[in-house]
Amino acid sequence: MDTSIIAQIAYLVSAILFVSGIKQLSSPATARSGNVRASVAMLLAIVVTLLDNRILDWTTVAASVIAGAVVGGVLARKIEMTAMPQLVAVFNGFGGGASAAVAAAEFVRLEGSGPGLGTGVTIVLSTLIGAVTFSGSLIAFGKLQGIVTGKPVTFPLQKILNALLFLGVLWVGALLAHAGMGTAAPSWFAPIHTDMNHAFFLALVAGALILGVLLVIPIGGADMPVVVSLLNSYSGLAAAATGFVLGNMMLIIAGSLVGAAGLILTQLMCKAMNRSLGNVAFGAFGTDGPALAAKTGERPVRDVDAEQAAMVLAYAGSVAVVPGYGLAVAQAQHELKKVCDLLEERGVRVRFGVHPVAGRMPGHMNVLLAEADVSYDKLLDLDDINAEFDTTDVVLIVGANDVVNPAAHDPDSVIAGMPILDVDRARTVIVMKRSLSPGFAGIDNDLFYMENTLMFFGDARQQMSELVKEVREA
Ligand code: NDP
Repeated sequence: MDTSIIAQIAYLVSAILFVSGIKQLSSPATARSGNVRASVAMLLAIVVTLLDNRILDWTTVAASVIAGAVVGGVLARKIEMTAMPQLVAVFNGFGGGASAAVAAAEFVRLEGSGPGLGTGVTIVLSTLIGAVTFSGSLIAFGKLQGIVTGKPVTFPLQKILNALLFLGVLWVGALLAHAGMGTAAPSWFAPIHTDMNHAFFLALVAGALILGVLLVIPIGGADMPVVVSLLNSYSGLAAAATGFVLGNMMLIIAGSLVGAAGLILTQLMCKAMNRSLGNVAFGAFGTDGPALAAKTGERPVRDVDAEQAAMVLAYAGSVAVVPGYGLAVAQAQHELKKVCDLLEERGVRVRFGVHPVAGRMPGHMNVLLAEADVSYDKLLDLDDINAEFDTTDVVLIVGANDVVNPAAHDPDSVIAGMPILDVDRARTVIVMKRSLSPGFAGIDNDLFYMENTLMFFGDARQQMSELVKEVREA
């Protein structure tokens, strides 16, 4: 059989594996096998492309796969859950950079041959989106890693400068795309000599790289997961455009899947925070606003120690656990599981209420709880757990803040309208955190001062270990 037909069949198998793998990611129960499927699809697509185009021989392919698998495997095992967003940011950046590099190679190969407007447009798009994704992702990585300031960087006329740069880059891109037709552009459109294509191409790359930086620096560090998700979508679009440049069906399919999935995820995250994408991109959220912890320490709270908290929990009929970012920071998930097991042994009904944006990335809490072997059927989403709070004896909040802040019901609050877990409807609420400090949104939380709230101060991991001991002895 013709090798190109074998390649097309392999691409078809890859595409089916990609689509079904992504479908499996929609449930925690099937997510692992979905991941495996999509990885196998990617491996198949890469190997077939390399062999079909006679780019590399079998030995080089095998050696590269082993080297890549070792690096990827070690990285994935070593990376902390809280550092996952920056790892994804780097991956997106490399994806965008690779697309731009392939488009640049095609530009050099086809220069002067008049490959047509279509090829010109796709080369320009893939370079532009790829380079924006590359530099934008590196800034997102820097912000998440603390190398670049996490605060929004703003300056006068910033949006106008960005708009002018964007228009300039588009103009250079249009000139280059037109050059693909092999005919001279009209002088009103190209007042500069059009045989300067090389210089134009470099200007396109430089402009796109600067644009990526300028678009991401005004966004606060804690909003980076939304940005990373959007950049992920861009990296998919860049790959799809490269697919058109190379005439590679697999790249078009995989890129479109990533582009669409990233965009949907971005929308879901914005909805769960009740913020528009415009607000995330241009709202400079995360500055030290005047409301920041203004009232902290001024109002009395009731605090408890591990023994008292254990008593309240051990003699409850039902307990709802609400995990948040602090659980991830403290890595307290395994101790939390032990407490829950002990409570269940005593006949307490234990459930987990998972808010869609609890933590700092989508699915953050689900992954942490899965790591500690918490069964999926105990995880309730926002609506289901909210329906249970009226009949819940105790809510145990572990390192969560914004997602349980009743200020969301106040129209003047910065988190107004954010769907929250209405934990204050339960009989007793225990909040485990280190202080009265605010969470990501930077605002005080009235929940801490309510009559039915008990503050259990301390590092979640340390306090959870104490709780294990005390519940065992209760
Ligand atoms: P928050 O950031 O609101 O609160 C986390 C709390 O954890 C802090 O108040 C902190 O209090 C506490 N904490 C930190 N370290 C520890 C520790 N070692 N032990 C105990 N507690 C600790 O987190 P939530 O999960 O409630 O809310 C997530 C926020 O992030 C939302 O505002 C959401 O919009 C935003 N966000 C989420 C994204 C996502 O995809 N999930 C993406 C972008 C933003 P203290 O210092 O007193 O201990």
